[in-house]
Amino acid sequence: MLDSVIVGGTLVTAEGTRQADLGIHEGKIAQVGRGLYGRSTIDAGGMLVLPGAVDEHVHLQLPVAGTVSSDDFYSGTVSAAFGGTTTLLDFAEPAPGQSLEEALALRRALADPKVTIDYGLHMTLSRADPETLAQIPACIKAGSSSFKLYMAYQGLRLDDGALLGALEAVHAHSGRALVHAENHDAISYLVSRALTSGQIGPASHPLTRPAILEAEAIHRLLALAEVAGAQVMVAHLSCAAGLTEVRRARARGQTVWIETCPHYLTLDEAEYRRPGFEGAKFVVSPPLRRKLDRDALWAGLAAREVNTVATDHCPFFFSRQKTLGQHDFSRIPGGAPGIETRLMLLFEMGVRTGRLTPERWVEVCCTEPARRFGLAPQKGTLEVGADADVVVWDPARRITLSHTTLHQNVDYTPYEGLTVQGCPAIVLAHGHLVVDNGRFLGEAGQGRFLHMAPAQS
Ligand code: MN
Ligand code: MN
Repeated sequence: MLDSVIVGGTLVTAEGTRQADLGIHEGKIAQVGRGLYGRSTIDAGGMLVLPGAVDEHVHLQLPVAGTVSSDDFYSGTVSAAFGGTTTLLDFAEPAPGQSLEEALALRRALADPKVTIDYGLHMTLSRADPETLAQIPACIKAGSSSFKLYMAYQGLRLDDGALLGALEAVHAHSGRALVHAENHDAISYLVSRALTSGQIGPASHPLTRPAILEAEAIHRLLALAEVAGAQVMVAHLSCAAGLTEVRRARARGQTVWIETCPHYLTLDEAEYRRPGFEGAKFVVSPPLRRKLDRDALWAGLAAREVNTVATDHCPFFFSRQKTLGQHDFSRIPGGAPGIETRLMLLFEMGVRTGRLTPERWVEVCCTEPARRFGLAPQKGTLEVGADADVVVWDPARRITLSHTTLHQNVDYTPYEGLTVQGCPAIVLAHGHLVVDNGRFLGEAGQGRFLHMAPAQS
């Protein structure tokens, strides 16, 4: 007999929607069909049933410029689960003198005892010397086949030669490359010019990181990727101009994937004109863009040009962390909370407005992130044999988003006061109840470290 069954719901997957029961046995999806019976029953009448969502881009307890992002691997995975996310991918970043494997082991030692859901780690390559690149195969064997490359940020960024070398090495070993594309030198110039002329507030943030400097970096990245013969994924695309660059590269025959984030789809640059220091809440890089960029990203998602939606969750307290940049916008810790609100925002602003079909919503939030990072078909589907990570979604329930009711460890949400319709009612991970109508039933340490399979070449 099945351990449990979810009955009477509407199954929504990337492939389609149908009325069916879901049978779960020993932590896996064991049966999909009608009239299933099990030891326990979850009534999903009137509900949607989807695969647990996969958030491929989060930063929990990340040290940044003298502070640390405020969600740790416990609070961050609890809030993720409340939002219907059952798998997330964070980052390991080798300190100077540390090997990739050491960095991975240290990050796992922090995360393993705390995580309540499954997780994997991208490896950040902030150096591209031969000794570092030679460690890539061992890193992949240890479970991290995805490599984060930065074109901006002092201390992290690779110059064009180093980036080319890194892309070649990652490709040669069937790794995956996820790239932050912005023009570092030009941004540095614009930032120091703004500060020198007394433009020290958060309103300067978007002005010093214009969309064209993101598009330029994407263009350069894709030129280097072509030389390297490498496939790449552009992280957190924010603008129409960047999308145009990817279209051109695809027309030349390149394989390029695009990730965007809920904040680029739902907010715009007007937030930086809030009074006082309020704009600091929205200091993310790349910055929020114009409404027409937002529209281009929605259209790109629907047209399958934009492949995934991840949160880039990186929360800092407005009252005591964002204030590090009170007299210098370039010192505002960059990042915003979003790990809990992704599915709800995309359902409200995507599915309910008709911009996305329910199937595409599931694909960009659950299925495609798992495929792109070597976690399919274990994650992101409701196929027999997949992990029984399942969300029972109440499409009728309305809630008003507020930092006081969300579970993220931070004193604001960019979506304060926004009412959305549709939210998770029940969340299962490996067949166990993690969230049951507002109650958290998971435990620290029950999440597992996931090995991301290498890319198929
Ligand atoms: Mn980034
Ligand atoms: Mn990031």
